Amino acid sequence: MIHSTAAEMATKLAAGEISSVELTQQHLDRISVVDGQVHAFLYVDTEGALSQAAAVDAKRVAGEKLSPLAGVPLALKDVLTQKGIPTTCGSKILEGWRPPYDSTIVSKLKSAGIVILGKTNMDEFAMGSSTENSAYGPSHNPWDLTRIPGGSGGGSAASLAAFEAPLAMGTDTGGSIRQPAAVTGTVGVKPTYGGVSRYGLVAFSSSLDQAGPCARTVLDAALLHEAIAGYDPRDSTSINAPVPAVVAAAKKLDVKGMKIGIVKELSGDGYQAGVRSRFDEAIEELVNAGAEIVEVSCPNFEYALAAYYLIAPSEASSNLARFDSMRYGIRVGDDGVRGAEEVMKMTREVGFGKEVKRRIILGTYALSSGYYDAYYGSAQKVRTLITQDFAAAFSKADVLVSPTCPTTAFKIGEKSDDPLAMYLNDIATIPVNMAGIGGMSLPVGLAPEDGLPVGFQIMSPAMKDDLMYQVGGTLEAALLRKWGSPILSNAPALGAN
Ligand code: GLN
Repeated sequence: MIHSTAAEMATKLAAGEISSVELTQQHLDRISVVDGQVHAFLYVDTEGALSQAAAVDAKRVAGEKLSPLAGVPLALKDVLTQKGIPTTCGSKILEGWRPPYDSTIVSKLKSAGIVILGKTNMDEFAMGSSTENSAYGPSHNPWDLTRIPGGSGGGSAASLAAFEAPLAMGTDTGGSIRQPAAVTGTVGVKPTYGGVSRYGLVAFSSSLDQAGPCARTVLDAALLHEAIAGYDPRDSTSINAPVPAVVAAAKKLDVKGMKIGIVKELSGDGYQAGVRSRFDEAIEELVNAGAEIVEVSCPNFEYALAAYYLIAPSEASSNLARFDSMRYGIRVGDDGVRGAEEVMKMTREVGFGKEVKRRIILGTYALSSGYYDAYYGSAQKVRTLITQDFAAAFSKADVLVSPTCPTTAFKIGEKSDDPLAMYLNDIATIPVNMAGIGGMSLPVGLAPEDGLPVGFQIMSPAMKDDLMYQVGGTLEAALLRKWGSPILSNAPALGAN
């Protein structure tokens, strides 16, 4: 039943109509048939997944009370630690590293009985929008294997679109959950910053990084969201407050009287025609469902991308200093004669890819004395202005919306030599990270000009994640009525099931 939703799988598991071992095996079989073409996975934990599944089945037979998603499989982005399982972050420098501990997310997944199939491909250290920066080769978009599945979490999104997994984990620093969701016709949610623990999430930019659910439906994302969210004393920025009731919100299917704000600056020029037209049609559906549309202006969003490319590299230059050849992963040139500094240099030269080096250099420069105030300091001020823009917009609307990305999936290789063109993919997703609020992308159809999926972004105020699920769930139901079948049923089939 690999084409079902996670919620449907959970229902069948609970009714005893399928076992978790059977369901897990079906997904492992699918992976072995199609992943040679998709390359969503960096590591498949066949034995571990089957033994987790068997343990859930045994508990169920024994009559234990289980969590809603118990026995459902999931694909884990390779930036989250899982004890004993290789974790590379898409980098050569961590090749062979097996973490000695579980991230809080993995602990929560395990205690919820969610079966971890393996680790998914990503841009190195989550820097990128296409997975082309992975040291292990790119993932391919199941809609068209010559195109990117987005990034950095392209492996997770591709695994969903190729029916290799019904659920996946992503992380989003500037758009790495939402942009891959948009270009693969799947759903991705960046929760409020602090809503999901960062303990065991290998840090890129600590003040922006946030893990979240990836799925094929809004309800599935909500179910996974509730399984992973909540306060964690091991993360100093974790929020100590109740998790918003996102599952109930995803089931409401009602937006009557809600105010939905279109962000003027995120929906004007520069968007592909088909992205724009599908966005406009989705807005009509929301109007038909009883929402009131208002236009809001966020003038400082213009500076978001520039500020992000100072803050994120600055934090990365500091966070990535820990990869020093001594503590984790590979060591190069240690001949017993060379000193530690020389070995460290040689290891970092070989171990880091081009984009990671570019960001470390940018960040080191931005933080250097004499420039710190002009670059990092100014970027932090822009961040405050963006947060104020959001606050003003949310005084006029319950949620804000925009297209998730300017275009549909581009070709592998098309932007890999042009970092600025690559960075522009995240023009509409980055403001959400800068302000620490919630953001979701869900599919709203195919662009007429290329037949590829278009993503619709919904943004909700901090700790009001339920609102984006309410609007997303309603829009998804309206579109399903209109189309008659889920968007992914239009994706070209990949091999045998
Ligand atoms: N594409 C953006 C970048 O390269 C965002 C990545 C992310 O969210 N991890 O930084």
